Amino acid sequence: MTDPLPSALIQNYARQDIAFVRGQGCTLWDESGRTYIDAFAGVAVSALGHAHPALVAAITRQAGALAHVSNHYRIPEQEALARQLVALAFPGQVLLCNSGAEANEAALKLVRLWGNQKHVGRKSRLIAFQGAFHGRTLGALSLTANPKYREPFAPLPAVEFLPFGDAAAAEAAIRDDVAGVFIEPIQGEGGVHPAPPGFLARLRELCDRHGAVLVFDEIQTGVGRTGKTWCWQHEGVRPDILTSAKGLGGGLPIGAIVAAPHLAGLFAPGLHGTTFGGNPLACAAAQVVLTEIARPGFLDHVAAMGERLRQGLSAAFPGCAVRGKGLLLGVQLDRDPGSVVAAARAAGVIVGPSGANTLRLAPPLVISSAEIDELVRRLAGVWAAIRSKT
Ligand SMILES: *Cc1c(COP(=O)(O)O)cnc(C)c1O
Repeated sequence: MTDPLPSALIQNYARQDIAFVRGQGCTLWDESGRTYIDAFAGVAVSALGHAHPALVAAITRQAGALAHVSNHYRIPEQEALARQLVALAFPGQVLLCNSGAEANEAALKLVRLWGNQKHVGRKSRLIAFQGAFHGRTLGALSLTANPKYREPFAPLPAVEFLPFGDAAAAEAAIRDDVAGVFIEPIQGEGGVHPAPPGFLARLRELCDRHGAVLVFDEIQTGVGRTGKTWCWQHEGVRPDILTSAKGLGGGLPIGAIVAAPHLAGLFAPGLHGTTFGGNPLACAAAQVVLTEIARPGFLDHVAAMGERLRQGLSAAFPGCAVRGKGLLLGVQLDRDPGSVVAAARAAGVIVGPSGANTLRLAPPLVISSAEIDELVRRLAGVWAAIRSKT
């Protein structure tokens, strides 16, 4: 069942010795036939759940027609997807890539082009926030705050990290020499911390005043996860660049940026690109995801299920703060979440960690109230058992 060690794989993940072999909706099966309720969706990816019929049909159809060409040619599936994204976001243009980190790399390069356009060397400061996670490639890593991820790879491009949610610190730091400000509306990896109300609007004002590009990294919070298509829509504060990935392909690897026109035009032919970015197969999948989340009632379902899950978690983890929005929720624990994640798995519920002491739930957006009630019931038992021992 298990490969004999040493593995042929580089050991850059601390993997559990469980392999899932099948999924349906919010249910996962492992090799031994055991079932689990999936409340993590492969890190907020499987937005429509596993083996969603429309997604399977579209991927199958596209694979049978044409999986890949190259960006040397027009790709109608890209054009259709871009139109959908713009319609769901704001007027602008779309660049497609393969992952979250790549989306942030593209945003970073656009920010650099913007800063260099008139002011080479004088508009180059980059701002991000403590607790931020923007990805693992060197550029995206430079925007990621956690020293554990950064320090082994120093020196990185210079980025200044401000306290998340501190309006006075933002006011002091954002001046005319700032090229770009990167923020997650809810810090997904850093402990499920929503930006305080009004903070995004404050950043919007400061970026407008100082001609800085405001980038919202919605790689985890976007595509319906918080009960709106994009998390910034809760507050009506629009970015200049939106980055998306994770849920966008419903399980196929795809990332995207939507950039306002004054920025989108800076990528002249030849300045940026990727071989796979926006290939027909990934685009076909993403089109289905965006079509499904735009169906009347879909986001209401996410919001209602999110509220039910939040209430259930508050009851299951008495005295622990529950943070987040929609179906991206974190439970603040008094310990490393690893033991709770493991005990939950033993009880047939897949959840994940976030930050140092937060339990993260990010189930498929199609989860039902019965599934929520059942997973909450199991987690309540898990937590009560852990608490009775410590
Ligand atoms: C996951 C994530 C990324 C990185 O995405 P990858 O596809 O893993 O490169 C970037 N930003 C946020 C907010 C994320 O949650």
